[in-house]
Amino acid sequence: MNRLTAAALAAAVLCSPAAAQRRDTALEAALLAHVTELASDAYDGREPGTDGEAKTLRYIGRQWFDIGLESGTNDPRNAWFAPVTLVAREPASSRVAFSRRGRPQFSPLGSTEVFTSGKRTLLNSAPVLFVGKGQHEVGRAELAGRVALLFEGGDSSALRQNALLKAGAAAVMTILDGERTLDEVRARRSRSGYALATEELGGDLDAYISAEGIERALAGGPLDLTALRALAAQPDFTAKVLDLAVTLEATTRETRINTHNVIGRIPGRRPETGAILLLAHWDHFGECASAPAEDLVCNGAIDNASGIAALTEIARRLAKGPAMDRDVYFLATTAEEIGLLGAEAFAENPPLPLDQIVAAFNLDSFALAPRGTPIGIVGRGLTALDAGILAVAKAQKRKVVDGDAANAYVRRQDGWALLAHDVPTVMVSSSWSDIARVERFFDGDYHRPGDQVKPGLDLSGTAEDVAFHVALVRHFADLKKVPPRSK
Ligand SMILES: [Zn+2]
Repeated sequence: MNRLTAAALAAAVLCSPAAAQRRDTALEAALLAHVTELASDAYDGREPGTDGEAKTLRYIGRQWFDIGLESGTNDPRNAWFAPVTLVAREPASSRVAFSRRGRPQFSPLGSTEVFTSGKRTLLNSAPVLFVGKGQHEVGRAELAGRVALLFEGGDSSALRQNALLKAGAAAVMTILDGERTLDEVRARRSRSGYALATEELGGDLDAYISAEGIERALAGGPLDLTALRALAAQPDFTAKVLDLAVTLEATTRETRINTHNVIGRIPGRRPETGAILLLAHWDHFGECASAPAEDLVCNGAIDNASGIAALTEIARRLAKGPAMDRDVYFLATTAEEIGLLGAEAFAENPPLPLDQIVAAFNLDSFALAPRGTPIGIVGRGLTALDAGILAVAKAQKRKVVDGDAANAYVRRQDGWALLAHDVPTVMVSSSWSDIARVERFFDGDYHRPGDQVKPGLDLSGTAEDVAFHVALVRHFADLKKVPPRSK
C-alpha cells in the first residue's frame, strides 16, 4: 500500500458519517490498487491500439484469470480478447468536372467538393438531373445512372440526399445557395471520427457546389441559376434533365485501429436459462493535453479505471461464492470514449444470443460519491429490471433516489449501445444519484489530466456499489427469483 492509500483511507474515516453498512476497508484498498495501477502514467491513458492498451489488456486478463473466470469470447481462436477493428476515413482528394455535349465547362477553383463513403469512387461523365429542393418524389428509372442536383434547405438536407441515393441516384450534388459554405462542409467531413470496420465499403458520392460554381457550369446552356431557383419554387415541379454531364471522383485516407474487448465468464449451473452481463469500459484518451501543459496524460482514474476496478472485485466475490443458475459474463469494452464502439461490436458479434441476456449492468465512473450516498439508476423505466433492483436495494438497506433524472446520461454510456439492441441494460450506482455532483465532475477533472489518483479520491462509495452489484447479480442469476426472458 502506498502513502496515498493510507492518506485516502484516513481522510475517509475522519469525514464519513455513520452509515448502515459495515465498512470494507480491505475492498477499498483493493479497488485503490487497481485504479492506481490502471491510471498510472505507465498505461499512458489507455488509448485503443497503443502500448497502453496492451498493458491494460494484460492486467485485466491476468486479474480475471487469477480470480478463476474462464474466457467468455466463445471463440477458441481469440480466448479472452475479442478483436474489434475501428476505421476512420478522412477525405483525401476530390475532383469535379462538368461538360456539355463533350465540351468541358470551366469550374472556378475551390467551387466544388465531393466525398465518398468508400476508399475511392469514380463516376464518369454522368448526366445531371435537377430535382429542385429534393422534396418531390422522383422515379427510380429517372434517377438511375444520373447525378441528382438539388438546392440545400434546412436540417433535413442530409435525409433528402440519402433518400435520393437510396432511390438509385448515381450521386447527389447539393447547391450551397444559402448560409452554408464549402469550408464548413469540408470541416465537418474531416471530423467524422472512428467507426466499426464493416465488410462492405460504401461508395456513395456526395458532392457540393457553390452558387458561383453552378453558375459557371450552367453558362452557355438554356437555364441559369435564377431559372433553376424559379423552377424549384413551382408547386408542380418535376425533375428535369439538364444539358450537362459531370465527372466526380473522390478518395479517402484510411486509418485502422486494431483493439479488443476483454470477455470473461463464470459458468452457471443452468446456462440455458440465460445470462447476466456486467460491463465497464477500459479505454480512455491517451495523451489529451498539449504542451506547454506539463501533464499530458489523461489517466482516467474515475473514468473508467474505477469501473474496471469495481468489475474485477465484483467478479472476485461472485467467483468465490456459491454457484449461480445463470452464466455471468464480464465485459471490459474498448473505444467507449470514441462512440461506444466496443459495446456496439459486442452487440453485433456477441458470444451468446443477445436475447439470452436477462440483465446487464454497466459500470462507468463509479468513484464520484462517498459511502452512504443513495443509488441512482441510469436507464430507469427503460427496462423491466427496476422492480428487481428496488427489491435488492431494500434487502441491502440501500436507498434509491426517486425519479429518472439520471436518464439524462443514458446515451452517454455503453449501456445505450446495448439498449439499442434490446438488451435490458442499466447503470446502478451512487455516483449517478445526484445530477449536481455529476455536473461538478464534468466541469472539473472529467476528460482532463486532472482525472488521476490524488488525495481526495474516495473509493468508499465504489466499495458499497461493488457489494450491491454482487447482490444484484445473485438476484438476477437466480432462476427462482427471475424467470427466463420470454421470447
Ligand atoms: Zn469518458
